[in-house]
Amino acid sequence: MNRNVGTTSLTESQPASISSRTSLGSGRELSTWSPPPLVKASVVFHGLLAAKWIAHPESRLTTLQWMAANHVLVGLCGMAPRASWLGKTMTRIPVRPDALRPEVALTFDDGPDPNVTPRVLDFLDDHGAKATFFCIGRRVEQHPSLAREIVERGHLIENHTYHHSHTFAFRLYRGLEKEILRGQDAIEHTVGRRPVYLRTPAGMRNFILDPLLHRLGLTLVAWTRRGFDTAIGDPNRILPRLVRGLSGGDILLLHDGNSARQPNGDPVVLDTLPRLLDHLDRRGFAAVPLPTKS
Ligand SMILES: [Zn+2]
Repeated sequence: MNRNVGTTSLTESQPASISSRTSLGSGRELSTWSPPPLVKASVVFHGLLAAKWIAHPESRLTTLQWMAANHVLVGLCGMAPRASWLGKTMTRIPVRPDALRPEVALTFDDGPDPNVTPRVLDFLDDHGAKATFFCIGRRVEQHPSLAREIVERGHLIENHTYHHSHTFAFRLYRGLEKEILRGQDAIEHTVGRRPVYLRTPAGMRNFILDPLLHRLGLTLVAWTRRGFDTAIGDPNRILPRLVRGLSGGDILLLHDGNSARQPNGDPVVLDTLPRLLDHLDRRGFAAVPLPTKS
């Protein structure tokens, strides 16, 4: 598999060129979008309820309750980041049969952060590890040289929306599209490569997102395991969550932005990451970016 890990070399004074706007993450843009079974079933269910509404006006209250129950069910499904009930979600990378070592994908969310990301990059370099940074578009614009440094050091930058709003999953089609495309544009203008992956804030989604991502040619990425390192300030509690049951193909989630603080005030990722990389080395894992096509 050809891995495009963003080898473009750019400097602050050298504006990034704009590469092809075609997304090539999964090739899903070449196929016809089909609603996932849960969405199809909900549409049929609403059709039946509409028929009941007309045929039995006296039971409209019950019909409304069933409609509300269906909406609650679909909404709850959108709060399960690793599930594919509302559309396909990538939770693992493909295992390459020709890989010399079992591979895991390290991913970092919510950056770039000038106080944390450079040290994360140093740790990765120390271990020859490559990673994927799901960056917030607004922060990429605030720290363009840091975003370019991520790419120059061999890592991928992908889209984590422009504002990282926690109301993202409550937006309708145009609202979602605007937030995603603004993130795409911010990253492409800064590092010269258009993302092919999206991770939503907190992994939340709604049933409208899947057809939109299909049209944009973007693949939604969640994770296999995460350490909750925005909430837990203790690396001794985070690390076991990341490595328990670890196997080739896993996607691990950490944060270089919004990292929880340890009692001494240090971002917890800066103590967790070197321990994680040592662990991966000891067990013979290779840390790789998400797979992309050139
Ligand atoms: Zn995030």
